[in-house]
Amino acid sequence: KSFKELGVCEPLVEACGKLGWETPTKIQAEAIPHALEGKDIIGLAQTGSGKTGAFALPIIQALLDSTQHPPFFGCVLSPTRELAIQIAEQFEALGADIGLRTAVLVGGVDMNQQQIALAKRPHIIIGTPGRLMDHLSNTKGFSLRALKYLVLDEADRLLNEDFEKALDDILKAIPLDRRTYLFSATMTKKIEAASKYSTVDTLKQQY
Ligand code: AMP
Repeated sequence: KSFKELGVCEPLVEACGKLGWETPTKIQAEAIPHALEGKDIIGLAQTGSGKTGAFALPIIQALLDSTQHPPFFGCVLSPTRELAIQIAEQFEALGADIGLRTAVLVGGVDMNQQQIALAKRPHIIIGTPGRLMDHLSNTKGFSLRALKYLVLDEADRLLNEDFEKALDDILKAIPLDRRTYLFSATMTKKIEAASKYSTVDTLKQQY
């Protein structure tokens, strides 16, 4: 199937074309139609599978469908800085022609610089849990109270003790009225248990 046949809107089909994405990958073909129906997703996919597109396309499409393109619309949590930056690059590439704004909130970078990025009211936040929580606690005007989409990428690595406190705090700071997309390389007991983060009963499991 083509991106168009999966339900992807014309501006995003064009954006995919510009990136040389002619045919959806397997995880994209499975996840995108469910996401566009408003379901939550647990996706089992490795890096290299096209999983970033599988969650980025439905989130950007929902943003385009929403009347005022609200800020702080989607948030992607990543266990590492490097992965967060790669995810942001894909959002930026897909959103280049439609005015998509992103902010990357990771450790090892000046808080101030990130606060300037947040002041521009980005649509999509990509971050590591600790630094994201630092901003939720300390950065005026930044909240995730209107968030519509939460992604836990490499969830198997996020659901570890190091991130537990920050993850719990972040989940308390975002609405229940949201979609949750959880992507993991492996299906573990922790990932199964994490389906509690889903706030709808239409979870789609991908194997
Ligand atoms: P990811 O697994 O999300 O890290 O993506 C791995 C690489 O595949 C990235 O460089 C993407 O740009 C690329 N990619 C994602 N989707 C497609 C597609 N449908 N066709 C070709 N390349 C893709």
